[in-house]
Amino acid sequence: LIAFLLYLFYLVAPIGQLVEGAVQLQQGLAAMKRIKEVEDLPGEPVGVPAGTGDRPLGVRFDGVVFRYGDDRPIVHDGVSFEVPPGGLTALVGPSGAGKSTVFALLERFYEHQGGVISLDGRDIRDWSLGELRAALGYVEQDAPVLAGTLKENLLFAAPDATEDELRRAIVRTRLDDLVARLPDGLDTAVGHRGVLLSGGERQRVAIARALLRKPRLLLLDEATSQLDAVNELRLREVIAEVAAETTVLVIAHRLSTVTNADRIVLMESGGVRAIGTHDELVGADELYRELAATQFLVS
Ligand code: ADP
Ligand code: MG
Repeated sequence: LIAFLLYLFYLVAPIGQLVEGAVQLQQGLAAMKRIKEVEDLPGEPVGVPAGTGDRPLGVRFDGVVFRYGDDRPIVHDGVSFEVPPGGLTALVGPSGAGKSTVFALLERFYEHQGGVISLDGRDIRDWSLGELRAALGYVEQDAPVLAGTLKENLLFAAPDATEDELRRAIVRTRLDDLVARLPDGLDTAVGHRGVLLSGGERQRVAIARALLRKPRLLLLDEATSQLDAVNELRLREVIAEVAAETTVLVIAHRLSTVTNADRIVLMESGGVRAIGTHDELVGADELYRELAATQFLVS
């Protein structure tokens, strides 16, 4: 019911309210996910115009300090790293290191209290929320699939996408096999009222959904659930292909993702412990070696 009301709100809200509404929606969606009553809402912004996808975005954290509340412990205690435009950057580190918080700050679900976050060299505080949400794509961990057709799932956050853009997103995310296999192709009902998709397929649906919004920076929180070898290979190909055009920042939970990354930012208890490639970090960092040995499968 709540989901339905939100959907109605999305349909009837005048354009001027949509940007602010989307912020409230995002926060509302996050809250509902915590309650776990609603499982089927994707994390992509609703009602915010899609981006233009023109140039990949560079990201910089410079001594960022953040806590979730005045009486809460410090989560980021001077986090600094730089992500040049384009390519694949992996965030890794033990559970609780502050990786997801990096995404929350980039999405501006929360305001940092110290240091500077900049995008394209411009302070994130100087970006309007609409501008920011149009530039960013966000694929949350274990991204859900809506009850509805596959097509509705893909176009949920980009209703203005053309057939051509839709086809391209499907090919780029290796979903063409799935579409061919489904009884009614794109018009097949999926999710809990239709064909159930595998974890790997759900994740690629979520990536396709985000790509249709033409982000300049894709934030991807990988699924922690195991993927079979075929799905893992597909995911790796998809990420590599997207990273050739867009900046991709991934919270990596699997070894195959980090070995392909252009750079890895290793976080530990609210700071950046080391930055390097997989080979560099394996050679230089004990914690990294431990994580690599357990295949990174931590939340
Ligand atoms: P990671 O993604 O590396 O596991 P997080 O960024 O999720 O780490 O969390 C870092 C710290 O912030 C943890 O101690 C976690 O409990 C806390 N935290 C995360 N999200 C919230 C939140 N919404 N409110 C309060 N504390 C939070
Ligand atoms: Mg996390």
